Amino acid sequence: MIGRHPDNQVPELKDYNLFSSDPVLQRAVARGQADWRRPELLRQGAEYGSEATLRAAEDANLYPPELHTHSATGQRIDVVKFHPAWHTMMAMARRNGNANLPYCDTRASAWSAYGASMYMHSQIESGSGCPTTMTKACIPVVALNPALYAELAPQLLSLEHDPRDLPLAQKTSITIGMGMTEKQGGSDVRSNTTRAVPHGSGPWGDEYLLTGHKWFFSAPMCDGHLVLAKTDEHGSSCFFVPRWRPDGSKNPIHIQRLKDKVGNRSNASSEVEFKEALGVRVGAEGRGIRTLIEMANYTRLDCALSSAGYLRQGLVQALHYTRNRFAFGRYLAEQAAMQTLLADMALESEAATVLAMDLAARFGSSDPADLAWRRLLTPAAKFWNCKRAVGFCGEAMEVFGGNGYVESGPMGRLFREAPVNSIWEGSGNVMCLDVLRAVAHAPDEAHGVLDQLQAVASQAPELLSQVQRLRRELMLPPEVLEAQARRFTQRLALTAQACLMLQHASTRAANAFIASRFDPDWGPVTGISAGTPHTAELLQAAWA
Ligand SMILES: Cc1cc2nc3c(=O)[nH]c(=O)nc-3n(C[C@H](O)[C@H](O)[C@H](O)COP(=O)(O)OP(=O)(O)OC[C@H]3O[C@@H](n4cnc5c(N)ncnc54)[C@H](O)[C@@H]3O)c2cc1C
Repeated sequence: MIGRHPDNQVPELKDYNLFSSDPVLQRAVARGQADWRRPELLRQGAEYGSEATLRAAEDANLYPPELHTHSATGQRIDVVKFHPAWHTMMAMARRNGNANLPYCDTRASAWSAYGASMYMHSQIESGSGCPTTMTKACIPVVALNPALYAELAPQLLSLEHDPRDLPLAQKTSITIGMGMTEKQGGSDVRSNTTRAVPHGSGPWGDEYLLTGHKWFFSAPMCDGHLVLAKTDEHGSSCFFVPRWRPDGSKNPIHIQRLKDKVGNRSNASSEVEFKEALGVRVGAEGRGIRTLIEMANYTRLDCALSSAGYLRQGLVQALHYTRNRFAFGRYLAEQAAMQTLLADMALESEAATVLAMDLAARFGSSDPADLAWRRLLTPAAKFWNCKRAVGFCGEAMEVFGGNGYVESGPMGRLFREAPVNSIWEGSGNVMCLDVLRAVAHAPDEAHGVLDQLQAVASQAPELLSQVQRLRRELMLPPEVLEAQARRFTQRLALTAQACLMLQHASTRAANAFIASRFDPDWGPVTGISAGTPHTAELLQAAWA
């Protein structure tokens, strides 16, 4: 509490440190053996929470990007102009390692360090997370073409943000986006119609000319995109399509318009036409979908991390507000019904963070058990964290009462940001079907993951019965299981969260999580049960 304010209006939460005030995150970083990054994370935490950063994040969204298709003399320029605050946020994301840390620093623990930065950045500004995370996910794919990677590696691994619209060779750092989704299909990319015609070979290998469209093409000002297109001979392959051709001319990628989006407004997302745009193949011929699915695993991790960030931001804002707002003779944070809700939110936020940060740590491991966990739990965590963030951010908004619903406060943008993580990089159903695909592809691995869960769940009978139920469901015929894909994935994600809470959270938080989440009376809108012990302590531990 900071004392009651004369007009009972709550001052803005600012100039706080996102890292030092987050015990769950600090423990996750330590578990991931990334304490070497602690001084830098403390610096970042202060930077993200500073008033200057909050204003930049606000301005980047208040003054959205503008498309300029033609020059004054009628030539195509296809330029998107941004407010300077956008570049402030892009530079911050880059400097903080969000575009490349695990590739600049080859320690396995760099993935945990990276996860912490990503989670903090998303709490403050999300649009800049899009080109940043795409760049990071593209690095291993570009590396499939050694000649191309040799040339681009210094710019990909740079910690600078270079916003200039120039040919690759003239840039100090570059960003890369992805072009998969077409009008007729985003989830089912097999329906893509963009064609690639061989066009000889150049310094980066086999060259092609691409003709077609992309219905969603975010961050069109990226220096290149990885694009899915079909050749007559081999079907879908993945191509690196630079914004400028190596000869210094503009690659004909015509931006038709920018999407008028519900949220993520600082970031430009466009529709484009390729008019014989030059592309160079990355990855094996005819294996484009496989290549891009592998890349999507990295962006799905980022969706799980950034949605955990939304939950954390919603929680912290709700705690700050209720600790300073008075109603019916007491602070809101002291009212029993509010405490039940806030404690439930604190548990949800902690469980989302441990799930995402545990997954990030496993991205740095080559242990077969961790690889199996990643295959099953990446789509499950993407599904669950992103889905929970949508309802959670609405609940956090409501904690502010009417003040939550005005654009001048922090909650509107958070609320509008939340659904997109659930839609892009594989929407909800598609993620659940991916979980089932991982099971069908390697059933022994899936049972191995359940063995990992069971070893922990044996401490808690309610949890053990969930693992046993998952095992029984794995035996169902595929056509029966498909209809239950969402239920199965929800159970898997909740069981994994509960096991991780048992291992890494306080006993009281783990017990309250298990008691509520597997109680048939619990629902996301009801909160933990009224008799849950130590509610006040749970809240104090969440945000001191
Ligand atoms: C802001 C924004 C930016 C984006 N940026 C990019 C980008 O840069 N590059 C890019 O390539 N794409 C981008 N996308 C596109 C995004 O990835 C797709 O919208 C997404 O993959 C879903 O594809 P779709 O829109 O065609 O929906 P559809 O594929 O038509 O899916 C519609 C619904 O049906 C469900 N569904 C699909 N298949 C099945 C099934 N077999 N069984 C049950 N349910 C199913 C899905 O879960 C979804 O809920 C962006 C989207 C947004 C909103």
